[in-house]
Amino acid sequence: MFDKLKDIVTHLREIASDIDVETMDGKSAAELVRISEDARRVIDGLRTSAIGRVGTTEAWRVGGSKNSAEWVALHTGTPIYEAQAVVILADQLRHLPQTFEAMNSGKISTAQAVEVARGATAEPYSEERLLNLAKSATVRTLRDEASRVIAAATDEVERHKRIHKNRSLKSWIDPDGAFNLKACMTVANGALVLAALTPFQDEIFKAARKSGEHATPEAYAADALMALCAAKTAGAQGSIATKPTRSSAVMNIRIDIDALKRGHTVDGEICEIAGVGPIPVATATEYLGEAFLKLLVIDGVDIKTVAHMGRAIPAPLRTAIEERDRVCQVPTCDVTLGLEIDHIKPFAEGGPASLENLVRLCKRHHLQKTHDGFRLIARGCEGSGDESQLRSEPRWVWRAPGSADQEASRDLDLSDAG
Ligand SMILES: [Zn+2]
Repeated sequence: MFDKLKDIVTHLREIASDIDVETMDGKSAAELVRISEDARRVIDGLRTSAIGRVGTTEAWRVGGSKNSAEWVALHTGTPIYEAQAVVILADQLRHLPQTFEAMNSGKISTAQAVEVARGATAEPYSEERLLNLAKSATVRTLRDEASRVIAAATDEVERHKRIHKNRSLKSWIDPDGAFNLKACMTVANGALVLAALTPFQDEIFKAARKSGEHATPEAYAADALMALCAAKTAGAQGSIATKPTRSSAVMNIRIDIDALKRGHTVDGEICEIAGVGPIPVATATEYLGEAFLKLLVIDGVDIKTVAHMGRAIPAPLRTAIEERDRVCQVPTCDVTLGLEIDHIKPFAEGGPASLENLVRLCKRHHLQKTHDGFRLIARGCEGSGDESQLRSEPRWVWRAPGSADQEASRDLDLSDAG
């Protein structure tokens, strides 16, 4: 039945073994990655729908597997959690023909399909919007949006209670001898943990950068947890605690004003702790008045009015920028740590400290823009009426020195900014 397909796989294997990657130049290697990704998408689509069919026909029962996922893990050599994810995706895709088609035609990757299906299963009307977002956004942005869709579509108070009831903190020593820590809790409580860690993490990151060290954000987060524990212990013993200089941890809650009035969110609205995840409106209102929480109400384009003359960036403006640019604003750059505020039009050339003229970039992209002639060009997205898309789609196009800028908006002077 699959003779032709099997022949192609054999043929593909032959071609692959004839390709000498080691002697290849970088440009060819990059092209090979794109071609391989194309091929992988075709095969992933086929594999996912076949796994779905094994599920519905209960072919997994042959051989005594407990369920579909166990069968997949056994027969494909994948870990059980990955097998479970693909079984769930296959099941969801049976009810989402558009996403199924996008995946099978190679328009979206499996990772993107997982996020679209997650959101669209909770709220079918969101399918097209999430698929559109998948074209331009990173998987991380797509995941955030899918989480928002799910939060708006489910009984949030009920879900919040259930998650809190099942809260846990587990530790174990793995086969390698490493100490592992795993916690599960509500987004609201998780945000408290992150807010306590962030000042330490920022300090450690800055110190490491000064000394020329480079480690992953995850490594710095682990260091931050250690610093927090050390500070706590030192404090209890009455000696001087190792301090983060910016000790006031702040969480920003972003909430649509209509959701706040109504008491719950509907599709397209958000109520979340910025950079962490969605929370019930009831939890947000519970937090109102707690001094360490700032509530940032999103009412259309209201926060755009924050502006200030002079080089210094006042606190409310900084908060608004931090909440708007939670990752480096160069499209597809997902860096969240050590972001720096850049004047798009330099202050020396009269560029104001306004929400429109400030943007957060990672260290590397900031340096490239300041010294290497890279430019951020505003995307012409004023025509789109879909507000939730405006929130997530990249606002900028990143241009290497000397490249054409057809999409440039000419009223902004973007050259040689700093
Ligand atoms: Zn960046």
